[in-house]
Amino acid sequence: MVSNAFSLLYLCFRVYELNSCFSLDPCTLEPNQKKMNQPQLWKDTGAVSLSFDDGSASQLEIAVPTLNQFGLYATFYINPRTETDLAPWREVGLSGHEIGNHTVSHICSRNFGWSNQKSLETTSLAEIEDDILLAEQHLRNLLPEQTERTFCYPCYQNHVGEGLYRQSYVPIVAKHFPAARGTDVPLRRSRGVDSRCE
Ligand SMILES: [Zn+2]
Repeated sequence: MVSNAFSLLYLCFRVYELNSCFSLDPCTLEPNQKKMNQPQLWKDTGAVSLSFDDGSASQLEIAVPTLNQFGLYATFYINPRTETDLAPWREVGLSGHEIGNHTVSHICSRNFGWSNQKSLETTSLAEIEDDILLAEQHLRNLLPEQTERTFCYPCYQNHVGEGLYRQSYVPIVAKHFPAARGTDVPLRRSRGVDSRCE
C-alpha cells in the first residue's frame, strides 16, 4: 500500500509539473498580478496543491482512500450531472477534501476531435456561464457545508468562440470563484499549437 501511495504521489507531482499547477494559472492573471502574486505565493514556504479532474471511479476507489490514509487533502473537480451518482462525492467533501466546479458539460475545443459534442468554438459567454452556475447549483445541493470552492477550466481552456469572436471567459470565472486552475499545455503538446496566454 505504501508503494502504491508513493506511486500515486509521484504521478500527482508529475501531473502538476506537466500542467504548471504549482500555482495559480499565470494565464488567468493580469500582468501586474504575475509580478506580484508568484513571489508572494512562493515566499518562504511555498505550496503544493493536489487536484483530480472529472470525477472518475478510480479516484473514489484508489485516490481518496490513499490520500486519507496519509492525511493528505486534495481538490476533486467533478462534473455534477443529474444522472450521475454523486452521493460518494458528498462523503469525500465531508471528509475534508474540496469538491471543485468543473462545469456540468465539460465543453472543450473541437480541436480535441470529440466531434459529437458541443465545442467551445460554438459556445457563447452566456452559455458557458449557465453551465458553470448549473454545476454550482448541483454542488451546493450536494454539499451545502462547503460554502466556497475553486474552479478548473475543462481541458484547461478558458475561451469561447473563435477567430474574431473568440473571448476569454476568465472574467466570468473570476466573478464567481476565488481562484481557478488551468493550463493549455495538453492542447499545445497534442496539436503543436502555441496558444499560451491567448
Ligand atoms: Zn476535465
